[in-house]
Parts: sequence; C-alpha cells; structure tokens
Amino acid sequence: MKRINQLSIHVINQIAAGEVIERPSSVVKELVENSVDAGATKIEVSISNECRDIRIADNGSGIHPDDIELAFSKHATSKISNENDLWNIHTLGFRGEALASIISIAKVTCTTRTKEFEYGTRVESQNSVVKKSQTGCAIGTIMEVKDLFFNQPVRLKFLKSAKTEFAYIQELMQSIALSHPEVAFVLKNNGNNIISTGQNSDLLTRINEIYSSSFVEFLRPIEKTDELSKLKITGYTSTPAYTRSSKKAIYTFINSRMVKCPILLKAIDLAYKNMLPHGKYPFVVLNLEIPTSDVDVNAHPTKREVRYKNPNQIFNFLYSAIDLALSNRTYSTDKETENINILPFTQTSKESDNAVYITEKNDTATINTERYSAPQIFPVKESQSPVPQKSFKIELEPQTEDSRDYNIIGQYYNTYILIETKAGLEIVDQHIADERYIYEKLKSNKNNASQLLLISDILNLETSEVELLMQAKDKLMSFGYQIEKISATQIIFRKVPQIIAHIKPVDIVAELLVNIKGNLDSLEEKILITTSCKAAVKAGEHLNLWQMEELIKNWKKTKHPYTCPHGRPISKTLSNKEVAAFFNRNA
Ligand code: ADP
Ligand code: MG
Repeated sequence: MKRINQLSIHVINQIAAGEVIERPSSVVKELVENSVDAGATKIEVSISNECRDIRIADNGSGIHPDDIELAFSKHATSKISNENDLWNIHTLGFRGEALASIISIAKVTCTTRTKEFEYGTRVESQNSVVKKSQTGCAIGTIMEVKDLFFNQPVRLKFLKSAKTEFAYIQELMQSIALSHPEVAFVLKNNGNNIISTGQNSDLLTRINEIYSSSFVEFLRPIEKTDELSKLKITGYTSTPAYTRSSKKAIYTFINSRMVKCPILLKAIDLAYKNMLPHGKYPFVVLNLEIPTSDVDVNAHPTKREVRYKNPNQIFNFLYSAIDLALSNRTYSTDKETENINILPFTQTSKESDNAVYITEKNDTATINTERYSAPQIFPVKESQSPVPQKSFKIELEPQTEDSRDYNIIGQYYNTYILIETKAGLEIVDQHIADERYIYEKLKSNKNNASQLLLISDILNLETSEVELLMQAKDKLMSFGYQIEKISATQIIFRKVPQIIAHIKPVDIVAELLVNIKGNLDSLEEKILITTSCKAAVKAGEHLNLWQMEELIKNWKKTKHPYTCPHGRPISKTLSNKEVAAFFNRNA
C-alpha cells in the first residue's frame, strides 16, 4: 500500500461532481434550481454544442460581488447556516455543492449583478480556479457552462446521443415548469424555442402551455387540506377516459420540489386500481405541501428522495384526495365544495429529479374512443398498501336525481346507448355501463340476495377445479353462491346471486374459473368481476327506452363511471364543438 496523500480541492470537487452531475440535464437542474431559489420570475435556458454548452439567464437576486468566490467553493451556501436549518428548508438547494462541482468539470463564466450595485461582476473559472472582473449587466445572473465533461473522458463516453440528452433536459424543464407556474420559462435548443411559458400562470394554464394537445376536459382538480397535520395536496389528475402509454406524465412534487415519492405513486396507483387497462397510465400533476419539519430532503445527494416522519398518515391523506377527485360524487358537507372548482396552483420555490421517468421510451396519449372488441381480464393484485382501505372511507352522497341533464336518444347497433348531454353526444357501451353499476352495487352490499335453484345440472370439472371452487366456497357464499361437491370431479349449484339467476351455472363456472386463473389471490374481486360481467346486459341485446333509462340512471350514479372493472372505457362524448366543426358550423 502506498502512503496516504491529501487530494487537491479540484479532485475532491470532481469526485463530488460524480454524485450530482451525471449528465447535461443534471447541470440544467442545479442551475435552474439556483435561479428559482434566487427568486427569479424569468428563466431562460439555452442548449447547444450537443448539450455540452448550457446557458442559463435569470432575473433573480444576483450574487454579491464579495460572495462570488464563496459561491463557487464547496459547502458554501446562502441558504442554510446551522444544523437546525436542515429541518427548515424552503429552498431547492442547501448543500452548497453544485457550483463547485460544475466548475471542476466544465468551463464556467458567471455574470451577475444585485440591485444594490450599478455594475455587475464577471467570473471565469477553469480547473476550479476563478478570475473576477467588473462588467455592465442587468440585475440577475447568467451562468454559461461550456465543454461539459471536457476533462472527464469516461463520463463523456457514457453520454447518449445529443437528441436523447436533450430529451432528458426537456422532460426536466417540463417538470420544473409544472412545479413553478409562477415563473416564466424558456427552453431553447440550438436557437429554437422548445418551451416558452408565461408568468403567473395557474397550474391549468401551465399544463396547457406545456402540453399543446388539449386534454383539459379530462382533468379533475385535486385540492384537500388537513388542518391538523398541516398537509395540503393540490393538482390535477386525468379521468380514466384519457390515458398515456408511460408514467412520464405523472408529476409528483413535495413543497414544489421534484421528488421520487413512492408514497404518492402508490396512492395514485391504488386510486386508479381497476380503472385503467394494463400498461396505461394517467396524467397527474400533484404537489404535496407538508411542514418542512416533517420531511427530510437531505436523504440523497441529488435530493430526489425524501423521508417522512409519518408515512402512513400521508398515504391515507393522498389516497383519499385522489380517489375523491376521480369519483363521481361530491362531499356531503356543504362547506367542502372546493374540489369541484378549478383551483389555481400558486406557490413558491423548490426542486427536481431528472431521472424519475426517464427510462420510459415512448409516451403516447390515448383518449379512449373505441370499444374493445374482446373482453380483457386484467389480473387484479391485492393492494399492498400499508393501511387498511377502510380507514380512508369518506361519507359520500349520491347526486340528486332531479339534476338530470341528459336525454336518451336511442340505441345503436343494439350495443350502445346514445345520449344528448350539454357537452355533446355521449355514446355509452350498455354492457360495460351496466357491469360497472352492478359491480359497485355488489361491492357495497354484503349479504347479496340469492336464488335457490330448484333444478340444477351437475357440472363435470377437473379435480383441481373442484378443489379450487371448494376452497373458494365460503367467499362465494358471501356473494350469494352456494355450491356443493358431489364427487372429486363434480359440483352442483344450489343457489346463485339473484341478479344472475337467469344465467346457466355452467356459464358462471366457466367464467369464474377463467377469472380465478388457478389461484385464489384477490378472490373477492374476481367473484365480483365475474358476477357483474355475467349479470350485466349484453352487447347486441335490444333494450326498450325504459330499460335504457334505468340502465343510464343507475350508471350515472356510480362512483367511477368511466371504466369497467377490467379497465375498458364506458363512454365517449363527441363534443358539440367537434360535431359543429365537422359540419363547418359555428358551435
Ligand atoms: P446551493 O444551491 O446548495 O446553495 P450552489 O453551489 O448551487 O449551492 O450555489 C451556491 C450559492 O451561490 C447559493 O447558495 C447562492 O447564494 C449562489 N447562487 C448560485 N446561483 C445563483 C443565482 N442564479 N442567483 C443568485 N445566487 C446564486
Ligand atoms: Mg444549488
């Protein structure tokens, strides 16, 4: 072993840079966050030279000329000063590492001016050494990073194509822009404007600025406050009628800081359980406001992971807020009407994570229009949530019936019901709508009524199938089924739930076995799905007006009227605008 020697500051900084600056987007993240922390209301990011030249200009506070050398040295920050401050962090940065790291792996020029000075300061750095001079410039800061990783051949080799690296930067900027609607952002690539937003936007306007495709009609506002624990969640979430093919558009922020938040993701997952087809994801932007003393943002060098003092409480709070926004009901307490209104997302400061959703390749949006041709049964996993679902039950009140604001036009193809609504022409899949209603009804009713079968055939099955059904016997009984084993390969149905008394037991068993798929996980859900599917009116079944009225009335009352328990869409609205535009009329 050689003798020990002390590393130079330059090398120490390069080692530290390895943790924080992984790729060009990491530089953008650190610098844009500094601009946000400096109170900037305008931030312009310009990328060139295959993402190795990065220029960030802001109109923030600027840096005092006497502080500049400190700003570029390690563990120097204006954001915290003692250990207590670590539990009271209101800025995105606080570790005082980013600038020191960046100047050790790139050539950096900083031009900055604070409002107290008539002149600005220009600092040039190379190999961690900074040179300072006076200059004329506007209040704010311009950071120019050139030749990123010029002295890091290995890092350089591991960079992806300029196009991919820019895609990371763009995703990061979208996320920052969504977490700070109060700031105007511009992102340029080789001189071309890629993102350009206004200032003082509310969140909905910001979503529109970032995603040009208009899907606002599919967004539901989320707003919930817990006064006692000082938690507040705000944002938007898409109804299941709109899906995306990747998780990229699930944005989660904590105190406006971009973070990987498994608890938030889990709450979203659970709220959408059984509502989205496999491989489809919602569009979500959520910001959780939580007292800074209840969350540790210092769990990871890039600050993308956080720890909570009370994760279970937070999970409950988040889940119930999302579930309520997705449900078709309103709060029964009259003071709580806020979640119906579209609320602006106004808040200041905080941070990002450029690596969260980056592994997804393509992200395409789908507005569910077509009826799926073949039923798809999606495996329903038991929830792994750390809390029992009961604990976040909220008292709900059905919408009043006289608020009826639709008119049934008729049936199409003996499969769809056509409805005139204020918004346009709604096409409802009769089978799936009815199935959703029955599913929810069965789920909420324990002791479902059963019908005694006076005449019932003996069903011949495989031994393993008989075994499986016998193991499920008690659960089946609670839904109104009574089965008996006649022999190792034979069973007989004595009773079935009343609502499916007209279905042949042999068909029920076949469907049940398909859904159970050889194991008894989530048995209750599988029985529910089988029963509601069997009980619902079929596609191709002629309905008279009265039957349609009943079916639609019941369906409109459901908690989740958008998708069936398998995740298929239930209805599609052709908006008045769409129809008028097709016929060249002014809507
Ligand atoms: P941190 O953000 O963790 O404090 P940085 O190395 O990113 O550490 O920045 C060091 C300091 O430089 C900051 O604390 C801040 O005072 C100053 N600074 C950096 N960028 C800016 C900016 N754009 N405007 C004003 N001050 C800045
Ligand atoms: Mg910083």
